[in-house]
Amino acid sequence: MKYISTRGKREPMESANAVLQGIAKDGGLLVPTEIPKVDPDFIDALQTMTYQERAVKILGLFLTDYTEEELKGCVERAYGNEKFDTEAVAPVRKVADKTVLELWHGPTSAFKDMALELLPQLMQTALEKTGETKTIQILVATSGDTGKAALAGFADVPQTRIQVFYPEDGVSEMQKLQMVTQTGENVQVIAVKGNFDDAQAGVKKIFKNEVFVKQMETKGSKLSSANSINWGRLVPQIVYYFSAYADMCKEGIIKAGEQINFTVPTGNFGNILAGFYARQMGLPVGHLICASNQNNVLTDFLQTGYYDRNRPFVKTISPSMDILVSSNLERLLFHLTGDCVRVNGWMEMLADNGMYDVGVGMLQRLQNYFWADCADDEKTKETIKEVYEKTKYVLDPHTAVAWAVADNYRRKTDDGRPMVIVSTASPYKFNGSVLEAMGASTEGKNSFELLSDLESKNEVKAPKGLSSLKDAKVVHTLTCEKNGMENVVFDFAKE
Ligand SMILES: *Cc1c(COP(=O)(O)O)cnc(C)c1O
Repeated sequence: MKYISTRGKREPMESANAVLQGIAKDGGLLVPTEIPKVDPDFIDALQTMTYQERAVKILGLFLTDYTEEELKGCVERAYGNEKFDTEAVAPVRKVADKTVLELWHGPTSAFKDMALELLPQLMQTALEKTGETKTIQILVATSGDTGKAALAGFADVPQTRIQVFYPEDGVSEMQKLQMVTQTGENVQVIAVKGNFDDAQAGVKKIFKNEVFVKQMETKGSKLSSANSINWGRLVPQIVYYFSAYADMCKEGIIKAGEQINFTVPTGNFGNILAGFYARQMGLPVGHLICASNQNNVLTDFLQTGYYDRNRPFVKTISPSMDILVSSNLERLLFHLTGDCVRVNGWMEMLADNGMYDVGVGMLQRLQNYFWADCADDEKTKETIKEVYEKTKYVLDPHTAVAWAVADNYRRKTDDGRPMVIVSTASPYKFNGSVLEAMGASTEGKNSFELLSDLESKNEVKAPKGLSSLKDAKVVHTLTCEKNGMENVVFDFAKE
Protein backbone atom coordinates (compact mmCIF):
# COMPACT_ATOMS: atom_id res chain seq x y z
CA MET A 1 0.00 0.00 0.00
CA LYS A 2 1.35 3.41 -1.00
CA TYR A 3 0.70 6.87 0.41
CA ILE A 4 0.07 10.05 -1.57
CA SER A 5 -0.68 13.67 -0.80
CA THR A 6 -4.27 14.93 -0.81
CA ARG A 7 -2.96 17.73 -3.01
CA GLY A 8 -1.41 15.33 -5.48
CA LYS A 9 1.89 17.03 -6.19
CA ARG A 10 4.42 14.38 -5.08
CA GLU A 11 5.33 10.76 -5.77
CA PRO A 12 3.71 7.91 -3.80
CA MET A 13 5.69 6.64 -0.77
CA GLU A 14 5.73 3.71 1.65
CA SER A 15 4.02 4.01 5.02
CA ALA A 16 7.35 4.12 6.93
CA ASN A 17 8.26 7.27 5.01
CA ALA A 18 4.78 8.70 5.49
CA VAL A 19 5.09 8.17 9.26
CA LEU A 20 8.52 9.82 9.38
CA GLN A 21 7.53 12.76 7.24
CA GLY A 22 4.24 13.59 8.97
CA ILE A 23 2.84 16.01 6.42
CA ALA A 24 3.18 16.01 2.62
CA LYS A 25 5.74 18.41 1.15
CA ASP A 26 3.09 20.19 -0.91
CA GLY A 27 1.23 21.10 2.30
CA GLY A 28 -1.36 18.34 1.88
CA LEU A 29 -1.96 15.33 4.10
CA LEU A 30 -0.71 11.82 3.36
CA VAL A 31 -3.43 9.26 2.62
CA PRO A 32 -3.46 5.62 1.50
CA THR A 33 -4.08 5.21 -2.22
CA GLU A 34 -6.87 2.76 -1.44
CA ILE A 35 -8.80 1.63 1.63
CA PRO A 36 -8.40 -2.11 2.33
CA LYS A 37 -11.56 -4.22 2.69
CA VAL A 38 -12.26 -6.89 5.28
CA ASP A 39 -14.99 -9.56 5.32
CA PRO A 40 -17.32 -10.61 8.18
CA ASP A 41 -15.02 -13.53 9.09
CA PHE A 42 -12.17 -11.11 9.69
CA ILE A 43 -14.36 -9.13 12.09
CA ASP A 44 -15.71 -12.26 13.86
CA ALA A 45 -12.19 -13.54 14.42
CA LEU A 46 -11.31 -10.39 16.39
CA GLN A 47 -13.64 -11.42 19.21
CA THR A 48 -11.23 -13.93 20.71
CA MET A 49 -8.14 -11.73 20.33
CA THR A 50 -6.49 -9.34 22.76
CA TYR A 51 -6.41 -5.64 21.89
CA GLN A 52 -2.79 -6.03 20.85
CA GLU A 53 -3.60 -8.89 18.48
CA ARG A 54 -6.47 -6.95 16.97
CA ALA A 55 -4.13 -4.00 16.43
CA VAL A 56 -1.52 -6.11 14.61
CA LYS A 57 -4.21 -7.46 12.24
CA ILE A 58 -5.67 -4.07 11.38
CA LEU A 59 -2.41 -2.12 11.22
CA GLY A 60 -0.98 -4.79 8.95
CA LEU A 61 -3.56 -3.94 6.29
CA PHE A 62 -2.30 -0.36 6.06
CA LEU A 63 1.36 -0.54 7.08
CA THR A 64 2.25 -3.18 4.50
CA ASP A 65 5.97 -2.37 4.48
CA TYR A 66 6.28 -3.21 8.21
CA THR A 67 6.72 -6.92 8.96
CA GLU A 68 4.31 -8.68 11.29
CA GLU A 69 7.18 -9.09 13.77
CA GLU A 70 7.87 -5.36 13.68
CA LEU A 71 4.21 -4.54 14.25
CA LYS A 72 3.98 -7.00 17.12
CA GLY A 73 6.96 -5.34 18.79
CA CYS A 74 5.53 -1.85 18.29
CA VAL A 75 2.11 -2.80 19.60
CA GLU A 76 3.50 -4.63 22.61
CA ARG A 77 5.64 -1.66 23.63
CA ALA A 78 2.71 0.72 23.11
CA TYR A 79 -0.15 -1.13 24.77
CA GLY A 80 1.51 -3.86 26.84
CA ASN A 81 3.65 -3.61 29.98
CA GLU A 82 0.75 -2.31 32.05
CA LYS A 83 0.96 1.07 30.38
CA PHE A 84 -2.84 1.04 30.32
CA ASP A 85 -4.68 0.50 33.57
CA THR A 86 -6.89 -2.23 32.10
CA GLU A 87 -5.96 -5.30 30.11
CA ALA A 88 -8.73 -4.54 27.65
CA VAL A 89 -6.89 -1.27 26.75
CA ALA A 90 -10.07 0.24 25.25
CA PRO A 91 -13.00 -1.35 27.10
CA VAL A 92 -16.68 -0.88 26.30
CA ARG A 93 -19.20 -0.32 29.03
CA LYS A 94 -22.97 -0.36 28.91
CA VAL A 95 -24.36 2.84 30.47
CA ALA A 96 -28.15 3.38 30.35
CA ASP A 97 -29.32 2.97 26.73
CA LYS A 98 -25.85 3.44 25.25
CA THR A 99 -22.46 1.76 25.06
CA VAL A 100 -19.47 3.85 26.11
CA LEU A 101 -16.12 3.13 24.48
CA GLU A 102 -13.55 4.26 27.07
CA LEU A 103 -10.40 5.50 25.39
CA TRP A 104 -8.77 7.05 28.43
CA HIS A 105 -7.11 4.18 30.25
CA GLY A 106 -3.63 5.13 29.05
CA PRO A 107 -0.84 6.99 30.88
CA THR A 108 -2.25 10.52 30.36
CA SER A 109 -5.96 9.72 30.80
CA ALA A 110 -7.14 10.92 27.39
CA PHE A 111 -7.77 9.18 24.09
CA LYS A 112 -4.65 10.69 22.54
CA ASP A 113 -2.69 7.90 24.25
CA MET A 114 -4.29 5.37 21.92
CA ALA A 115 -2.30 6.84 19.06
CA LEU A 116 0.60 8.54 20.78
CA GLU A 117 1.85 5.47 22.57
CA LEU A 118 2.12 3.73 19.21
CA LEU A 119 3.39 6.55 16.98
CA PRO A 120 6.89 6.80 18.53
CA GLN A 121 7.27 3.04 18.13
CA LEU A 122 6.22 3.23 14.48
CA MET A 123 8.66 6.09 13.97
CA GLN A 124 11.59 4.41 15.64
CA THR A 125 11.00 1.28 13.59
CA ALA A 126 10.71 3.44 10.46
CA LEU A 127 14.08 5.05 11.24
CA GLU A 128 15.66 1.60 11.37
CA LYS A 129 13.89 0.42 8.22
CA THR A 130 14.86 3.44 6.14
CA GLY A 131 18.43 3.77 7.48
CA GLU A 132 17.74 7.38 8.48
CA THR A 133 20.54 8.76 10.65
CA LYS A 134 19.21 12.27 11.36
CA THR A 135 17.39 13.09 14.57
CA ILE A 136 13.64 13.35 14.18
CA GLN A 137 12.44 16.60 15.73
CA ILE A 138 8.75 16.36 16.51
CA LEU A 139 6.67 19.55 16.57
CA VAL A 140 3.30 19.41 18.27
CA ALA A 141 0.58 22.02 18.55
CA THR A 142 -1.83 21.04 21.28
CA SER A 143 -5.20 22.10 22.57
CA GLY A 144 -4.35 20.21 25.74
CA ASP A 145 -4.37 16.45 25.58
CA THR A 146 -2.11 15.78 22.61
CA GLY A 147 0.79 17.59 24.22
CA LYS A 148 1.12 15.43 27.28
CA ALA A 149 0.37 12.22 25.41
CA ALA A 150 3.07 13.02 22.84
CA LEU A 151 5.57 13.94 25.56
CA ALA A 152 4.87 10.68 27.39
CA GLY A 153 5.18 8.67 24.20
CA PHE A 154 8.42 10.27 22.97
CA ALA A 155 10.30 11.02 26.20
CA ASP A 156 13.78 9.51 25.93
CA VAL A 157 13.00 7.59 22.73
CA PRO A 158 16.41 7.47 21.01
CA GLN A 159 17.02 9.59 17.90
CA THR A 160 13.98 11.75 18.58
CA ARG A 161 13.37 15.19 20.11
CA ILE A 162 10.00 16.71 20.86
CA GLN A 163 8.68 20.26 21.23
CA VAL A 164 5.14 20.93 22.37
CA PHE A 165 3.42 24.30 21.80
CA TYR A 166 0.26 24.97 23.81
CA PRO A 167 -2.00 28.06 23.88
CA GLU A 168 -1.07 30.00 27.00
CA ASP A 169 -4.63 30.41 28.27
CA GLY A 170 -6.31 27.60 26.38
CA VAL A 171 -5.74 24.46 28.45
CA SER A 172 -6.99 23.27 31.82
CA GLU A 173 -4.77 23.61 34.88
CA MET A 174 -4.39 19.85 35.09
CA GLN A 175 -3.44 19.65 31.42
CA LYS A 176 -0.87 22.38 31.86
CA LEU A 177 0.61 20.74 34.94
CA GLN A 178 0.85 17.44 33.12
CA MET A 179 2.94 19.08 30.41
CA VAL A 180 5.19 21.48 32.30
CA THR A 181 6.31 18.73 34.67
CA GLN A 182 7.37 16.37 31.88
CA THR A 183 10.88 15.02 32.33
CA GLY A 184 13.16 13.64 29.64
CA GLU A 185 16.41 14.66 27.96
CA ASN A 186 14.73 15.26 24.60
CA VAL A 187 11.61 17.25 25.51
CA GLN A 188 10.65 20.95 25.50
CA VAL A 189 7.28 22.57 26.32
CA ILE A 190 6.41 26.12 25.19
CA ALA A 191 3.41 28.38 25.98
CA VAL A 192 2.32 30.30 22.86
CA LYS A 193 0.68 33.71 23.22
CA GLY A 194 -2.39 32.88 21.16
CA ASN A 195 -5.09 30.23 20.79
CA PHE A 196 -4.85 26.66 19.51
CA ASP A 197 -5.42 27.66 15.89
CA ASP A 198 -2.47 30.09 16.15
CA ALA A 199 -0.24 27.34 17.48
CA GLN A 200 -1.38 24.88 14.83
CA ALA A 201 -1.03 27.43 12.02
CA GLY A 202 2.50 28.21 13.29
CA VAL A 203 3.53 24.57 13.13
CA LYS A 204 2.00 24.09 9.68
CA LYS A 205 3.79 27.17 8.39
CA ILE A 206 7.12 25.82 9.60
CA PHE A 207 6.60 22.50 7.80
CA LYS A 208 5.66 24.33 4.60
CA ASN A 209 8.77 26.51 4.64
CA GLU A 210 11.11 24.41 2.52
CA VAL A 211 14.08 26.72 3.08
CA PHE A 212 13.73 26.41 6.83
CA VAL A 213 13.27 22.64 6.65
CA LYS A 214 16.56 22.41 4.68
CA GLN A 215 18.32 24.59 7.25
CA MET A 216 17.17 22.27 9.99
CA GLU A 217 18.44 19.28 8.03
CA THR A 218 21.92 20.76 7.79
CA LYS A 219 21.76 20.95 11.58
CA GLY A 220 20.99 17.21 11.60
CA SER A 221 17.29 17.51 12.41
CA LYS A 222 14.46 16.16 10.33
CA LEU A 223 11.19 17.84 11.26
CA SER A 224 8.11 15.75 11.76
CA SER A 225 4.70 15.95 13.34
CA ALA A 226 2.85 14.04 16.01
CA ASN A 227 -0.39 15.95 15.41
CA SER A 228 -3.29 14.01 14.02
CA ILE A 229 -2.20 15.13 10.57
CA ASN A 230 0.44 12.36 10.79
CA TRP A 231 -0.79 9.10 9.28
CA GLY A 232 0.92 7.24 12.12
CA ARG A 233 -1.46 9.03 14.49
CA LEU A 234 -4.55 8.19 12.54
CA VAL A 235 -4.06 4.54 11.74
CA PRO A 236 -3.89 3.33 15.39
CA GLN A 237 -7.31 4.90 15.94
CA ILE A 238 -8.99 2.68 13.36
CA VAL A 239 -8.26 -0.29 15.62
CA TYR A 240 -10.59 0.66 18.47
CA TYR A 241 -13.64 0.97 16.24
CA PHE A 242 -13.17 -2.68 15.31
CA SER A 243 -12.25 -3.59 18.85
CA ALA A 244 -15.43 -2.00 20.24
CA TYR A 245 -17.52 -3.85 17.70
CA ALA A 246 -15.88 -7.17 18.54
CA ASP A 247 -16.38 -6.59 22.27
CA MET A 248 -20.02 -5.67 21.78
CA CYS A 249 -20.58 -8.92 19.87
CA LYS A 250 -18.73 -10.84 22.53
CA GLU A 251 -20.77 -9.32 25.33
CA GLY A 252 -24.03 -9.94 23.49
CA ILE A 253 -24.88 -6.25 23.14
CA ILE A 254 -25.18 -6.76 19.37
CA LYS A 255 -25.27 -9.67 16.95
CA ALA A 256 -22.46 -10.16 14.43
CA GLY A 257 -23.24 -8.17 11.30
CA GLU A 258 -25.63 -5.75 13.02
CA GLN A 259 -25.09 -2.07 12.25
CA ILE A 260 -24.19 0.36 14.98
CA ASN A 261 -23.71 4.13 15.21
CA PHE A 262 -20.85 6.01 16.82
CA THR A 263 -21.04 9.51 18.29
CA VAL A 264 -17.63 11.13 18.44
CA PRO A 265 -16.69 14.32 20.30
CA THR A 266 -14.82 16.07 17.54
CA GLY A 267 -12.16 18.73 17.19
CA ASN A 268 -9.55 18.14 14.54
CA PHE A 269 -11.67 15.39 12.91
CA GLY A 270 -9.02 12.69 13.46
CA ASN A 271 -10.96 10.37 15.73
CA ILE A 272 -14.16 10.38 13.67
CA LEU A 273 -12.17 10.04 10.45
CA ALA A 274 -10.70 6.80 11.80
CA GLY A 275 -14.31 5.66 12.20
CA PHE A 276 -14.91 6.54 8.56
CA TYR A 277 -11.95 4.37 7.51
CA ALA A 278 -13.32 1.51 9.62
CA ARG A 279 -16.71 1.88 7.94
CA GLN A 280 -15.16 1.94 4.47
CA MET A 281 -13.19 -1.19 5.33
CA GLY A 282 -16.42 -3.03 5.98
CA LEU A 283 -17.24 -2.52 9.66
CA PRO A 284 -21.07 -2.44 9.97
CA VAL A 285 -21.48 1.22 10.87
CA GLY A 286 -24.62 3.22 10.14
CA HIS A 287 -23.94 6.85 10.91
CA LEU A 288 -20.91 8.55 12.37
CA ILE A 289 -22.25 11.39 14.46
CA CYS A 290 -20.00 14.40 14.74
CA ALA A 291 -20.45 16.17 18.08
CA SER A 292 -19.10 19.70 18.55
CA ASN A 293 -19.18 22.27 21.35
CA GLN A 294 -19.95 25.96 20.68
CA ASN A 295 -17.11 25.99 18.16
CA ASN A 296 -19.57 24.35 15.80
CA VAL A 297 -17.90 24.84 12.43
CA LEU A 298 -18.29 21.16 11.66
CA THR A 299 -21.98 21.10 12.57
CA ASP A 300 -22.63 23.87 10.08
CA PHE A 301 -20.42 22.24 7.48
CA LEU A 302 -22.03 18.83 7.67
CA GLN A 303 -25.48 20.42 7.63
CA THR A 304 -24.90 22.89 4.78
CA GLY A 305 -21.71 21.99 2.88
CA TYR A 306 -20.36 25.42 3.75
CA TYR A 307 -17.20 25.54 5.87
CA ASP A 308 -16.70 28.91 7.51
CA ARG A 309 -14.08 29.52 10.14
CA ASN A 310 -14.85 33.24 10.27
CA ARG A 311 -16.51 33.34 13.65
CA PRO A 312 -15.50 34.04 17.21
CA PHE A 313 -13.33 31.43 18.85
CA VAL A 314 -15.15 30.32 22.01
CA LYS A 315 -13.37 28.97 25.06
CA THR A 316 -15.47 26.11 26.43
CA ILE A 317 -15.34 23.52 29.20
CA SER A 318 -14.37 20.96 26.53
CA PRO A 319 -11.13 22.69 25.47
CA SER A 320 -9.74 19.84 23.40
CA MET A 321 -12.53 20.56 20.94
CA ASP A 322 -12.00 24.33 20.79
CA ILE A 323 -10.92 24.27 17.18
CA LEU A 324 -12.07 26.19 14.12
CA VAL A 325 -9.88 24.53 11.49
CA SER A 326 -10.29 20.76 11.48
CA SER A 327 -7.28 19.55 9.53
CA ASN A 328 -8.33 15.97 8.95
CA LEU A 329 -11.41 17.00 7.01
CA GLU A 330 -9.04 17.36 4.08
CA ARG A 331 -8.49 13.60 4.07
CA LEU A 332 -12.21 12.94 4.03
CA LEU A 333 -12.76 15.34 1.14
CA PHE A 334 -10.00 13.58 -0.77
CA HIS A 335 -11.45 10.11 -0.22
CA LEU A 336 -14.94 11.21 -1.19
CA THR A 337 -13.85 12.99 -4.38
CA GLY A 338 -10.57 11.33 -5.34
CA ASP A 339 -9.87 14.73 -6.82
CA CYS A 340 -6.69 16.52 -5.69
CA VAL A 341 -7.46 19.57 -7.77
CA ARG A 342 -10.79 20.21 -6.07
CA VAL A 343 -9.31 19.53 -2.62
CA ASN A 344 -6.49 21.92 -3.41
CA GLY A 345 -8.98 24.59 -4.43
CA TRP A 346 -10.99 24.26 -1.23
CA MET A 347 -7.90 24.34 0.97
CA GLU A 348 -6.65 27.45 -0.83
CA MET A 349 -10.02 29.11 -0.28
CA LEU A 350 -9.81 28.16 3.38
CA ALA A 351 -6.30 29.59 3.71
CA ASP A 352 -7.16 32.80 1.83
CA ASN A 353 -10.75 33.52 2.93
CA GLY A 354 -11.37 31.16 5.83
CA MET A 355 -14.19 29.42 3.99
CA TYR A 356 -15.20 27.10 1.18
CA ASP A 357 -18.36 25.52 -0.17
CA VAL A 358 -18.34 21.91 -1.37
CA GLY A 359 -21.70 22.11 -3.15
CA VAL A 360 -24.92 20.15 -2.94
CA GLY A 361 -23.75 16.87 -4.51
CA MET A 362 -20.85 16.58 -2.14
CA LEU A 363 -23.03 17.53 0.83
CA GLN A 364 -25.37 14.64 0.04
CA ARG A 365 -22.43 12.25 -0.08
CA LEU A 366 -21.15 13.53 3.26
CA GLN A 367 -24.56 13.03 4.80
CA ASN A 368 -24.63 9.38 3.75
CA TYR A 369 -21.95 8.85 6.38
CA PHE A 370 -22.15 11.71 8.83
CA TRP A 371 -24.70 13.51 10.96
CA ALA A 372 -23.72 16.50 13.08
CA ASP A 373 -24.91 18.62 15.94
CA CYS A 374 -23.50 20.62 18.84
CA ALA A 375 -24.01 21.22 22.53
CA ASP A 376 -23.09 24.37 24.46
CA ASP A 377 -21.53 24.42 27.93
CA GLU A 378 -24.88 24.66 29.66
CA LYS A 379 -26.23 21.60 27.86
CA THR A 380 -22.95 19.79 28.52
CA LYS A 381 -23.20 20.40 32.26
CA GLU A 382 -26.84 19.40 32.32
CA THR A 383 -25.90 16.15 30.61
CA ILE A 384 -23.13 15.37 33.11
CA LYS A 385 -25.61 15.95 35.95
CA GLU A 386 -28.42 13.91 34.42
CA VAL A 387 -26.31 10.92 33.50
CA TYR A 388 -24.68 10.95 36.93
CA GLU A 389 -27.98 11.12 38.75
CA LYS A 390 -29.46 8.32 36.67
CA THR A 391 -26.50 5.95 36.48
CA LYS A 392 -23.67 7.15 38.79
CA TYR A 393 -21.44 7.18 35.72
CA VAL A 394 -19.30 10.32 35.49
CA LEU A 395 -18.80 11.79 32.01
CA ASP A 396 -16.01 14.21 31.22
CA PRO A 397 -17.19 17.36 29.37
CA HIS A 398 -16.06 16.12 25.93
CA THR A 399 -17.88 12.85 26.32
CA ALA A 400 -20.91 14.70 27.65
CA VAL A 401 -21.06 16.77 24.45
CA ALA A 402 -21.21 13.50 22.54
CA TRP A 403 -23.88 12.11 24.84
CA ALA A 404 -26.09 15.18 24.40
CA VAL A 405 -25.68 15.11 20.62
CA ALA A 406 -26.42 11.36 20.51
CA ASP A 407 -29.71 12.05 22.30
CA ASN A 408 -30.52 14.76 19.76
CA TYR A 409 -29.74 12.35 16.98
CA ARG A 410 -32.09 9.74 18.29
CA ARG A 411 -34.86 12.30 18.82
CA LYS A 412 -34.49 13.89 15.43
CA THR A 413 -33.96 10.78 13.30
CA ASP A 414 -35.77 7.90 14.97
CA ASP A 415 -32.70 5.77 14.19
CA GLY A 416 -32.74 3.07 16.87
CA ARG A 417 -29.48 1.30 15.96
CA PRO A 418 -27.24 0.67 18.98
CA MET A 419 -25.28 3.79 19.87
CA VAL A 420 -21.66 3.89 20.94
CA ILE A 421 -20.44 7.03 22.68
CA VAL A 422 -16.74 7.45 22.08
CA SER A 423 -15.43 8.61 25.45
CA THR A 424 -12.26 10.63 25.02
CA ALA A 425 -11.13 11.70 28.47
CA SER A 426 -11.25 10.74 32.11
CA PRO A 427 -13.48 13.14 34.07
CA TYR A 428 -10.52 13.61 36.44
CA LYS A 429 -8.79 15.76 33.83
CA PHE A 430 -11.59 18.32 34.20
CA ASN A 431 -12.50 18.13 37.87
CA GLY A 432 -13.67 21.72 38.26
CA SER A 433 -16.19 21.71 35.40
CA VAL A 434 -17.42 18.24 36.24
CA LEU A 435 -18.00 19.04 39.91
CA GLU A 436 -19.78 22.30 39.05
CA ALA A 437 -21.99 20.39 36.67
CA MET A 438 -22.86 18.01 39.48
CA GLY A 439 -23.81 20.96 41.65
CA ALA A 440 -20.82 20.75 44.01
CA SER A 441 -19.01 23.82 45.25
CA THR A 442 -15.53 24.39 43.79
CA GLU A 443 -14.79 27.85 45.13
CA GLY A 444 -11.31 28.46 46.44
CA LYS A 445 -10.23 24.88 45.89
CA ASN A 446 -7.05 23.89 44.10
CA SER A 447 -6.83 21.20 41.42
CA PHE A 448 -5.95 18.45 43.85
CA GLU A 449 -8.69 19.26 46.33
CA LEU A 450 -11.08 19.12 43.41
CA LEU A 451 -9.62 15.79 42.36
CA SER A 452 -10.30 14.22 45.74
CA ASP A 453 -13.77 15.83 45.86
CA LEU A 454 -14.64 14.12 42.60
CA GLU A 455 -13.13 10.88 43.79
CA SER A 456 -15.53 10.86 46.71
CA LYS A 457 -18.48 10.93 44.28
CA ASN A 458 -17.19 8.59 41.60
CA GLU A 459 -17.07 4.80 41.73
CA VAL A 460 -13.98 4.92 39.51
CA LYS A 461 -10.77 6.00 41.27
CA ALA A 462 -8.58 8.86 40.01
CA PRO A 463 -5.78 7.79 37.67
CA LYS A 464 -2.33 7.67 39.30
CA GLY A 465 -0.84 9.84 36.56
CA LEU A 466 -3.03 12.73 37.77
CA SER A 467 -2.93 12.35 41.53
CA SER A 468 0.87 12.07 41.48
CA LEU A 469 1.20 15.48 39.76
CA LYS A 470 0.80 17.08 43.16
CA ASP A 471 4.44 16.45 44.00
CA ALA A 472 5.88 16.87 40.50
CA LYS A 473 8.31 19.71 39.79
CA VAL A 474 7.64 22.32 37.06
CA VAL A 475 10.54 22.10 34.61
CA HIS A 476 9.24 24.08 31.59
CA THR A 477 8.55 27.83 31.71
CA LEU A 478 9.40 28.97 28.17
CA THR A 479 6.87 31.23 26.36
CA CYS A 480 6.84 32.61 22.81
CA GLU A 481 4.87 34.97 20.55
CA LYS A 482 2.79 33.30 17.86
CA ASN A 483 5.20 34.64 15.24
CA GLY A 484 8.25 33.48 17.14
CA MET A 485 7.85 29.73 16.91
CA GLU A 486 10.36 29.22 14.11
CA ASN A 487 13.21 30.57 16.24
CA VAL A 488 12.32 28.31 19.13
CA VAL A 489 12.35 25.32 16.80
CA PHE A 490 15.69 26.32 15.30
CA ASP A 491 17.29 26.76 18.72
CA PHE A 492 16.17 23.33 19.89
CA ALA A 493 17.88 21.48 17.01
CA LYS A 494 20.82 19.47 18.17
CA GLU A 495 24.12 20.97 17.03
C1 LIG B 1 -8.33 15.58 20.98
C2 LIG B 1 -9.57 15.39 21.71
C3 LIG B 1 -10.82 15.42 21.07
C4 LIG B 1 -10.96 15.72 19.59
O1 LIG B 1 -10.47 14.68 18.77
P1 LIG B 1 -10.12 14.95 17.25
O2 LIG B 1 -9.48 13.71 16.77
O3 LIG B 1 -9.20 16.12 17.24
O4 LIG B 1 -11.42 15.26 16.56
C5 LIG B 1 -11.94 15.17 21.83
N1 LIG B 1 -11.86 14.94 23.15
C6 LIG B 1 -10.69 14.93 23.80
C7 LIG B 1 -10.68 14.69 25.26
C8 LIG B 1 -9.51 15.13 23.11
O5 LIG B 1 -8.35 15.10 23.76
